[in-house]
Amino acid sequence: MYALVDCNSFYASCEQIFRPDLRGQPVVVLSNNDGCIVARSKEAKNLGVPDLQPFFKIAQLLRQKGVHVFSSNYCLYGDISHKVMSTLQNYSPDIEVYSIDEMFLCLAGVQEPLIAYGQTIKQTVWRDIRMPVSVGMAPTKTLAKLANHAAKKIPKTQGVCLLDSPLKWQWLQKRLPVTKVWGIGKRLGKRLNAMDISTVYDLATANAKQLRQQFSVDVERIIAELNGNPAISLELQPAAKKQIFCTRSFGEKPTELKPLAQAISAYAARACEKLRAQKQYCKSVQVFINTSPYDANYYSQQLVVQLPYPTDDSRIIIAHANKALAIIYKTGKRYLKAGVGLLDLSERKYMQQDLFQRAQTTQCDALMLTVDKINRRYGQGLIYWGAEGSNKRWHMRQQFLSPAYTTRWEDIPFIKC
Ligand SMILES: [Mg+2]
Repeated sequence: MYALVDCNSFYASCEQIFRPDLRGQPVVVLSNNDGCIVARSKEAKNLGVPDLQPFFKIAQLLRQKGVHVFSSNYCLYGDISHKVMSTLQNYSPDIEVYSIDEMFLCLAGVQEPLIAYGQTIKQTVWRDIRMPVSVGMAPTKTLAKLANHAAKKIPKTQGVCLLDSPLKWQWLQKRLPVTKVWGIGKRLGKRLNAMDISTVYDLATANAKQLRQQFSVDVERIIAELNGNPAISLELQPAAKKQIFCTRSFGEKPTELKPLAQAISAYAARACEKLRAQKQYCKSVQVFINTSPYDANYYSQQLVVQLPYPTDDSRIIIAHANKALAIIYKTGKRYLKAGVGLLDLSERKYMQQDLFQRAQTTQCDALMLTVDKINRRYGQGLIYWGAEGSNKRWHMRQQFLSPAYTTRWEDIPFIKC
């Protein structure tokens, strides 16, 4: 038996944790650079605030309706996500962190009645973190996803839904369109619709062998899962990424090389942290920059440079990224976006030492480890590389940013009793 624990309106709920005055109020969160609406509290949804709308188009409407607006605060969201995961660890030894706000739990061996167990999980996460969650439980991950959907949409479930018999899951499957199935996107949904498969139940009772030939083995697995036969297992270790990218749009578009170089250095540093977290080295670095495609002289360029040896040393990677930038940079442009990609990754532990080639020193390993440790403990960016500069004017636009309540000393909330 699996449970899928999904945080309700995650970003908006994070903003409400340290602002109890905003609970029950309409709240929305904007994407990078305050571009679009990416999260809405239940109240904002009820007011009819549309999802994924450009903020500037509906800013006035939001003001009129008294909606509270926030820039995205990923420091806060990442930390809260981690806290939710730690709490869930008390309820299952096997957890798959599926996304920032969704976790699968293996419930094998739970003795208690499962509905009560789900309610305890939900209440504990609310008590300890003030994060509202929904819990869906079923014999397969795909059914647990559907159960979670029901837990959110059907008030009678009180946020916890258990699908433990064909009768129960078929009842739900007959009432949901096939696109609600985990792994069936819009495009696949359209093709299935053309074959007269419109509800989830239609898919669950379709000819699996035939659909496998027409689409892929994934569809056959989904059908098995929809019938209560597990075909997709928990992924306890997140698969290491084959490439790591850090890309951003600028709030204030730089034209000079210096702020651009600082941004590239900061993105490279961020990518290096991820590289070290997954215990890998990289052998080449890609840098790209572009102006807005709406500009008269649209300019977009990229370059990949080789590193002297496989490494995770931020200093070397930043230096090479800057060399690449200097080559592709053109004066007189207003740059909209820049990014760094780390390519050609290999596992550190399988590294072959080459007698005739330089390799990363143990002193360097120790230095990188220490920098990462300090930043993890005292907040990201406490120690940064000189090349990033201290005046981050190229930084994202974040006009409505909330404090970093849980990751910066100055931002810890005061409580008056
Ligand atoms: Mg969610």
